[in-house]
Amino acid sequence: MNKYSKLALGLSIALLAAGCSDDSGSDNVAVLPQPEQPQEQQPLALPQSQLESSWFKVGQQAVARAQAQTINNTPGAAKNIILFIGDGMGISTVTAARILAGQQQGLDGEEYQLSFEKMPFAGLVKTYNTNQQTPDSAGTATAIMTGVKTKAGVINVDETVPRGDCAASKQRPLTTVLELAEGQGKSTGIISTARVTHATPAATYAKVPDRDWEYKVTDGDCTDIAAQLVALNAGDGIDVIMGGGRRNFLPSSETDAEGAAGKREDGRNLVDEWLDRYNDGVTNAVYIEDQTGFNALDVAGTDKLLGLFNPSHMHYEADRGNDTAGEPSLSEMTAKGLELLSKNDKGYFLMVEGGRIDHGHHAGSAYNALTDAVELAEAVQVAMDKTSAEDTLIIVTADHSHVMTIAGYPTRGNPILGKVITNDGSGQPEETPALAADGLPYTTLGYTTGRGHADYGETADADERYGHEIDTGRKDLTNVDTTAPGYHQEALIPTSAETHGGEDVGVWARGPGAHWVTGTNEQSYLFHVMARAGGLLD
Ligand SMILES: [Zn+2]
Repeated sequence: MNKYSKLALGLSIALLAAGCSDDSGSDNVAVLPQPEQPQEQQPLALPQSQLESSWFKVGQQAVARAQAQTINNTPGAAKNIILFIGDGMGISTVTAARILAGQQQGLDGEEYQLSFEKMPFAGLVKTYNTNQQTPDSAGTATAIMTGVKTKAGVINVDETVPRGDCAASKQRPLTTVLELAEGQGKSTGIISTARVTHATPAATYAKVPDRDWEYKVTDGDCTDIAAQLVALNAGDGIDVIMGGGRRNFLPSSETDAEGAAGKREDGRNLVDEWLDRYNDGVTNAVYIEDQTGFNALDVAGTDKLLGLFNPSHMHYEADRGNDTAGEPSLSEMTAKGLELLSKNDKGYFLMVEGGRIDHGHHAGSAYNALTDAVELAEAVQVAMDKTSAEDTLIIVTADHSHVMTIAGYPTRGNPILGKVITNDGSGQPEETPALAADGLPYTTLGYTTGRGHADYGETADADERYGHEIDTGRKDLTNVDTTAPGYHQEALIPTSAETHGGEDVGVWARGPGAHWVTGTNEQSYLFHVMARAGGLLD
């Protein structure tokens, strides 16, 4: 209440009192003293301690930065577009990854900012598919890449196409942002820690009615996803391809460098076909499949790059050292990819997917999900460092969320993977973990669905969980180190794998057109931001 409303209240109380005490109240009202005319209003002085608070100053500086932010409203000003997708990187994953990254640097963690959280613009994205409240990655990636929301399970065909219907899919193809960029003579790239034929990377180039058609189709005369990648007819084809999924390019009769058999039943070796297609005497195409080949790559002399580093998905970042042949990290691939793509004066479109954040969650391992999310943030930092906000739009988002929650009232700086330890009100952490109503300690992070609790010690491959029985419900964690790489959080509802979550995801942006990333939008909106910022539909 300010001083004028106090005055007004005082006046009405005076009027009321006057009315009660005297019948000829109007006379009394007439003689009441008039309120002083308001003086020139003085700003309320803040206490010195408030002005000197670090929280106060940080907020002040942030507003000043926001005010100084320049906006480039010119369509086409984004010569380069880099789209980062953290597969399954919902809001709770971003928060927990931020805390983990901060704690890895010796901070409390909550105050830390991941690379993309320093970007000037952000918004929310509605992720549902046309036929599902909680989406899958094929439908969501299609929305981002084409501007058209569609069903779960289909890639770059619209919602009228029944899943798995080859003939119908051929009638309703959708063109992608990558194809548009190719059509303008830009260079293009896709980088993922998942198989390059997996739903999200596939949605940059393939059109199929079933995301599972990675190396063979089960209906009609459609072409599988790997074969579409090699045959892509847009511009001069994708320039940089790095990720996993080697088995989908090799015939079942062949064994690869890491001892795994190919999956293809048509006898084709798509790696050889790709090399034949792009080593045409004009361009120099290079295939690599391990860390040694990656390190030895001659960027200046390479026009097209195909890097397939694992038979299936690449390793989780925390488990990468255990790869047989050695493989680069997501941030290393991003750096190399940008060096190759930036050779084109017309610019480029690059999609980078942290594909295994999703897989860590599905296996019920917050450890793997979060360490892969932190690595995605590292890859974004590489892109922010290697490009200019003057001509490069960077968008960071997730395709969908997961059912991981951040629960209880852990004290500030409590290990994010640890058991909940509260504080005594003065901020002093209690000596022992808080106990739930069942008398047992509990972790801050937990899952609603999934295979449930397991403790594999130092094992940093979350997929170990699938080799053991589902075990949901409460466990006695008193003597369990829940921060160990091999710890899998408790889950409430037993499902064969932990499930996606249906709430909105975040989107962050920097560069020309980044200010259009604001508010709450349908996921398909992101295509239009990229298309307009990049002048791709002109
Ligand atoms: Zn998933």
